[in-house]
Amino acid sequence: MSRTRSISQEILVHFASKIPEKLSSKWTRFVCVSDTHNKIDRDKYQVPNGDVFLHAGDMTGLGKVEQVRDTVNWIKNLPHKYKVIIAGNHDLTLDETFYEKNWNRFHYNKEDPKEAINIIKNAGNGVVYLNEESFTIPDKGIQIWGSPWTPEFYEWAFNGQRGQCLKEKWGQIPQTTHILMTHGPPYNILDKTHHSGENVGCEDLLERIKVIKPYVHIFGHIHEAYGVLEKTWESTDQDRKKTIFINASTTTIEYEPENAAVVFDYPPTHPL
Ligand code: 5GP
Ligand code: MN
Ligand code: MN
Ligand code: MN
Repeated sequence: MSRTRSISQEILVHFASKIPEKLSSKWTRFVCVSDTHNKIDRDKYQVPNGDVFLHAGDMTGLGKVEQVRDTVNWIKNLPHKYKVIIAGNHDLTLDETFYEKNWNRFHYNKEDPKEAINIIKNAGNGVVYLNEESFTIPDKGIQIWGSPWTPEFYEWAFNGQRGQCLKEKWGQIPQTTHILMTHGPPYNILDKTHHSGENVGCEDLLERIKVIKPYVHIFGHIHEAYGVLEKTWESTDQDRKKTIFINASTTTIEYEPENAAVVFDYPPTHPL
């Protein structure tokens, strides 16, 4: 692999308010949103066109079957060839074991989690639902891993205890992952909460990221920490020199869909 590739081989990040043409058709344009919580008005909220749409979880308000159906109908009708999506702590029915035990803390009538999972897994039209698994974009070889898990906070879906439990989950992420999707942020990266000013991201996720050094990590969950941050890794025996972190939370802390989708262009060959 050449080490002298030009700067144009780097990933380019844009906000939806200002998106240039792709440098060439060989680049792959990713369009990232998160935490849409059934708050999107399809006529008002513009999703930029691109090759791959990514949704980093909290697709629904409370995981009701109708809410899952509504979100899936929105996503499956987007023009992107692939729509790679994960769940979040609000997508209650998608965590079937959790929902069976906890449904009455959230819902007056019990929903059918199997139906919700069926809707999302069999959406078709390029929708790829990842629950601790990989998807490699055909013909491009770009490998994506998606996981819904976040550190425990008031016992919601896909909540795991900090420490051993989450460490084991992150241990499953393949070293070869190019793009990592998790619902929540890693510790100290776009993870500062408005209320307490605390950094609530996952320490164990950060440790795993230091090993893998994915080119891009997209997440949401902490709505008020929406934004992009680039981290350069100091010494590395891999070709991977930096990670772009994207907190793509579309809704604000008041659950208003005010944040633009974040777009990035992935070069024809893997970046350095
Ligand atoms: P959601 O309920 O949609 O998962 O998260 C909404 C908001 O709850 C976030 O924007 C953040 O302000 C707060 N929140 C979520 N998880 C945590 C957490 O682990 N710790 C703290 N302090 N706040 C959180
Ligand atoms: Mn959310
Ligand atoms: Mn590779
Ligand atoms: Mn969340």
